[in-house]
Amino acid sequence: MKCRHCKHLLQHQFLDLGFAPPSNAYLSQADLTRPELYYPLKLYVCEQCWLVQTEDYAAADSLFSSDYAYFSSTSSGWVQHAKQYSEKIIETLSLTKSSFVVEIASNDGYLLKNFVEQDIPCLGIEPTDSTADAAEKLNIPVLRDFFGETLAERLVSSGKQADLIIGNNVYAHVPDINDFTRGLKALLKVNGTITLEFPHLLQLITHCQFDTVYHEHFSYLSLFTVSRIFEKTGLRIFDVEELSTHGGSLRIYACHQEHKRPICESVARILEQELDCGMRSLELYQTFQHRADVIKDNLLTFLLEKKAKGERVVAYGAAAKGNTLLNYAGIKPDLVPAVFDAAKSKQGQYLPGSHIPVLAPEQLKAMKPDIVLVLPWNIADEVVAQNSALVAPDTKWMIAIPELIRV
Ligand SMILES: [Zn+2]
Repeated sequence: MKCRHCKHLLQHQFLDLGFAPPSNAYLSQADLTRPELYYPLKLYVCEQCWLVQTEDYAAADSLFSSDYAYFSSTSSGWVQHAKQYSEKIIETLSLTKSSFVVEIASNDGYLLKNFVEQDIPCLGIEPTDSTADAAEKLNIPVLRDFFGETLAERLVSSGKQADLIIGNNVYAHVPDINDFTRGLKALLKVNGTITLEFPHLLQLITHCQFDTVYHEHFSYLSLFTVSRIFEKTGLRIFDVEELSTHGGSLRIYACHQEHKRPICESVARILEQELDCGMRSLELYQTFQHRADVIKDNLLTFLLEKKAKGERVVAYGAAAKGNTLLNYAGIKPDLVPAVFDAAKSKQGQYLPGSHIPVLAPEQLKAMKPDIVLVLPWNIADEVVAQNSALVAPDTKWMIAIPELIRV
């Protein structure tokens, strides 16, 4: 297997999470009587460009099917994050009715609705019908497709180029990162700006967030590697912000290479941080499997002890990262009988692999749990605030990553 970016031969596998089904492949009751497809889930690091990546195994269109169940608007914290970003960028770039904004992976319109409200022309690019339908109801034009160089050139030839291209949590999810980046270059106006948000590999490694590894998540990105990919494509990163979203993300700001914009000091500072942490040496990656196994073993021991004592542990949040953790640990409904989630699209279904049923939060009361394990640890505070009234006051809320602790 070769590196997705620089084509160097990949020789360093540093994490093996066994086999798992695609993390968003929720199952209906009828599906439970059929075979389920599992794919290897392993991470490699490229010693040439330091891109961390999963093994190639399936076409992207089989992962993002039309009944894709992830709706961005489900998380109120994320909606708020999008609103703040929109207000800030509209002001910074002085966007007006004559500007044009494109969001790639626009999902259910959680972000572009803020531009529609300000009468700023925009276009969402989104391959999943279920979320695109929701966005169109908010008067957001949506092009139902995957983004890449071909699509960008098609837009350009129809007279469309963007003042602002936004990509939130999509860059890590594209199988061909070079093609996607060439698309960004093609679609961007001469004076245009690109902003991308992606989970920061530095945080994944530092806090052992191995559950953020799943098949739909092809790349795990550092500022160093993204800068390199951009430079190869004729783009340039001129600013970067650290965000708390998704366990620690970066938001990069980029423009055409030849565009004269000063580079902010944050770029050098974060590159330095990555270097100091050892992200460009193999030693850092070689201890990761052991650290992940300690977390998995501790969780299993805890669940087995609780089962022996007759205490009931349920989970909250039918998120992709929860599925990675549950499947790697081999947790089934005998240890965790239910997972609760506010997304109606997931309720009544079963988690891929573990087959744990997904129930509405209102059903928490009847279940009388002693412990609720919050799988999306990145929004644990929000989950507890919204749901603590649904359980007895002495119910413990816990997270498993970076270590098993009470929220
Ligand atoms: Zn490489």
